[in-house]
Amino acid sequence: MRTRDIFFNHIAQTSLAPAALEIISAKGSRLKDVNGKEYIDLISGISVSALGHNHPEINNAIKKQVDQGLHFMVYGEFILQPQVMLAELLTTILPEKLNCTYFVSSGSEAAEGALKLAKRFTGRTEIISFQNAYHGSTHGALSVAGNEALKNSFRPLLPDVTILPFDSINSLEKISSRTACVIAETIQGEAGAIVPKKSFIQELRNRCTESGALLVLDEIQVGCGRTGKMFAFEHFGIVPDILLLGKSFGGGMPLSAFISSKEIMSSLTVNPSLGHITTFGGHPVSCAAGFAALNIMRREKLLDTIAEKENIFRKYLVHKHIQSITGKGLLLGIEFENENTCKSIINDCIKSGVVTDNFLFAPNKMRIAPPLNISAEDIRLSSEIIMNSIEQIKN
Ligand code: PMP
Repeated sequence: MRTRDIFFNHIAQTSLAPAALEIISAKGSRLKDVNGKEYIDLISGISVSALGHNHPEINNAIKKQVDQGLHFMVYGEFILQPQVMLAELLTTILPEKLNCTYFVSSGSEAAEGALKLAKRFTGRTEIISFQNAYHGSTHGALSVAGNEALKNSFRPLLPDVTILPFDSINSLEKISSRTACVIAETIQGEAGAIVPKKSFIQELRNRCTESGALLVLDEIQVGCGRTGKMFAFEHFGIVPDILLLGKSFGGGMPLSAFISSKEIMSSLTVNPSLGHITTFGGHPVSCAAGFAALNIMRREKLLDTIAEKENIFRKYLVHKHIQSITGKGLLLGIEFENENTCKSIINDCIKSGVVTDNFLFAPNKMRIAPPLNISAEDIRLSSEIIMNSIEQIKN
């Protein structure tokens, strides 16, 4: 009871009803709480633990780096081997023009960095984003969120932000020679796992190229394999000018990045020098963990298994109360008729040993975003529990 009281009274609360599970250990796709109760983890700490919990190789990489040293200097001044190794690995798996990485600590910071970079490189001020987009909670990132209720109490925010409907090709004509960048999630996460039309993303790329605006794709939630490709933009046959990675990028450690070309990135180096700096960006322990995670994912050919795992979920999760299943790969949104129904199913799932939640801007949808190496058996078991929880709903 004591830890619960301290949590509610002395740890700042973000909402009135946190799940407040007290998890003390985890392994693979399983979480264990303080009472010894086990749960199947269907959300991976919101798309973070892509290789499951307590992966021995990631743990060893972390321990090795801890023994060598934690922090030597702020970002950008010293040559730090874990950063160098991860940046080099990224150049081998990303398209050639995304060859220069700026490491930061959180997704919000990656979005901030990208917005500043686009303004600085283009000399323009307008930023375009999309309805129901989420790019983070800091002032700049919040300014480009596509949800007014989230923003209203914090105004004034960044000026010259235009918000367009997502997946609407016609609205893309608003992108102009005034636009510094368009920031979009390749597949929207907090909107409820929304996959846009291929033609929309392609036209978005075209309009940005025509008007000289930079295309910033936020793959903080959907990058690093979650949709079955290493990067979600690969599904659409285009390449952004700036890519944002985060969440699972650090193998469970805090690590994010904005990645662009050497040419674009160079504009942050002068006028002013030190125009974007960070103390902890690219922390050696985080980079060592991220490097291990990316290597494991590639060596174990995890990407080849994602579509099949999506299919298994889709095969089991069929019910008259399920209105639709949106998303791609292992980011799925199970849509129910309303928020209350969804919430009561989620609560019942948690009681029955499956951890899930809903989406920030789609409270009537249940999130499925398990570790990418979840077993077929755990998919079956968790789906069975979800179906039983749905059965508890009165018609
Ligand atoms: N972009 C996207 C698409 C996200 O899903 C999130 C986090 N949910 C962020 C940015 C912000 O990341 P962070 O919480 O690490 O600042």
